[in-house]
Amino acid sequence: MMCDKCKDCTNLSARDVFNGVCLISKETVSIDAPVCKKFVRADKCKYCSKYIASEKDSNLGTCDGDMVYPDLAGCEDFILAE
Ligand code: SF4
Ligand code: SF4
Repeated sequence: MMCDKCKDCTNLSARDVFNGVCLISKETVSIDAPVCKKFVRADKCKYCSKYIASEKDSNLGTCDGDMVYPDLAGCEDFILAE
């Protein structure tokens, strides 16, 4: 599984493509900052058992043959990959 970042945490309120506000610390953080002990993984396609990452482009993947982005919010069929 890929390295988790603040953008993967349910406690991040994104403000733009670079930064967000951590709802725990109330501080501005880079969305690519390493996670802290309060990290709570968001349900994103890249964490789903049905997600297949592209071998050519790490920013793309597929689900049931359809193209999806790894950072998309998971749908109702999300099942955490082991
Ligand atoms: S709780 Fe930790 S991992 Fe989550 S957004 Fe805040 S600083 Fe980042
Ligand atoms: S089942 Fe839903 S959450 Fe899982 S990869 Fe497909 S679209 Fe994403």
